[in-house]
Amino acid sequence: MSGEGPGAHGADSTPGADGTRRAVDPEAFGGFGSHGGFTVVDGELAIGGVPAGRLAERVGSTPFFAYDRSLLSRRAAQVRAALPDGVELNYAVKANPMPALLHHMSGLVDGLDVASAGEMLTALDTTVPAERIGFAGPGKTSIEVRQAVAAGVIVELESATELARVRLAGEQLGVTARVALRVNPPFAVRGSGMRLGGGPQQFGVDAEQAPELLAGIGAAGLDFQGFHVFAGSQNLDAESICAAQRGTVELVTELADHAPGPVRYLNLGGGFGIPYASRDRALDLGPIGENLAKLLDTAIRPAFPQARTVIELGRYLVGEAGVYVTRVVDRKVSRGTTFLVVDGGLHHQLAATGNLGRAIRRNYPIAVVGSTTEPATETVDLVGCLCTPLDLLGKDVALPHAEIGDLIAVFQAGAYGLTASPIGFLGHPAPHEVLI
Ligand SMILES: *Cc1c(COP(=O)(O)O)cnc(C)c1O
Repeated sequence: MSGEGPGAHGADSTPGADGTRRAVDPEAFGGFGSHGGFTVVDGELAIGGVPAGRLAERVGSTPFFAYDRSLLSRRAAQVRAALPDGVELNYAVKANPMPALLHHMSGLVDGLDVASAGEMLTALDTTVPAERIGFAGPGKTSIEVRQAVAAGVIVELESATELARVRLAGEQLGVTARVALRVNPPFAVRGSGMRLGGGPQQFGVDAEQAPELLAGIGAAGLDFQGFHVFAGSQNLDAESICAAQRGTVELVTELADHAPGPVRYLNLGGGFGIPYASRDRALDLGPIGENLAKLLDTAIRPAFPQARTVIELGRYLVGEAGVYVTRVVDRKVSRGTTFLVVDGGLHHQLAATGNLGRAIRRNYPIAVVGSTTEPATETVDLVGCLCTPLDLLGKDVALPHAEIGDLIAVFQAGAYGLTASPIGFLGHPAPHEVLI
């Protein structure tokens, strides 16, 4: 038997009217419905069509991260279908820089956004040409800037210091550096899980300071490409994203009067969120696509006929295509609470424990791999193997019974997993990552 099962049981639990706990509506998760789009073979979760138990044997050790190629492709195709012609899609590498995954993504998108020289080198190993790679992020050192100028990527300037560094690197290397100005907008985006724009920021140059920087870019004789505005991340509200995009186009239209040349690159940011907790609703791409189509016709094309308009997405493209698979190593009851202790934890998957930029911790979707389609029979706390109470992967999770040796899947692990976790904490070995 193969097919999509009815639900990721124990993804979360909410108190029922009678005070008991029940598994929440699995449809609450993801745009793909049950198990975030993963298939179930004979009751067992499968990743890329391979049953997770078999996959664990192949990997040779737990825990591990597994990413499903077909889900990555499917998600990119969904975004493409929603975006109007003329809007390009970039992948933000920091969401998941695993080389094999990045290589797969490079065939699905138009460009890559990197945030360190290390990411840049990995990105340059793909087939994406340098002029389609943007390097953003505060604190680019002289050495990183020199690498970026030598590579020919677009350096997204975030300060006057960076402008001076780019100018110097270009002179020393005899290269006309490609640059864009990253602007900190005067507005913030409602509904963002993480704010990266509006108010005082370490990111980008305040819109008020942009004219001066633009004059500096012209004076330095750099190859001015255009603008980049990234206002926020993990947003599930389409209307807020549309408002940010409208605000960005308006802002850039004003700033373009001060630009040293035509705008050829317009990076509108992204911030598309994915559902992590049961109460989250998947983002509706429809209104975003319509809004972009309107902006293209009424504002972007008339003002910037030469511009490549770009949306940059990280977690939205890869987050739901990954699972963290970990094994139960102990099962114990403490004063009425059943604990499943697994061999993984926050040192690999910090975000699932609520310790990565979350004010309130909520359970990520969780399943017992071998009984994915079974109903929940007990409520447990799923904890990692680190000696800290922070290592809590699931609180009061309704799950089918799991024993020592059983595999547990923690979903939504494709973005900000391994590389966003304190791998050195407690000195356990690093997990494998596989792309299937
Ligand atoms: C981190 C980052 C992204 C990706 O954010 P997601 O929430 O993963 O989509 C995009 N652009 C910039 C500039 C970033 O720093």
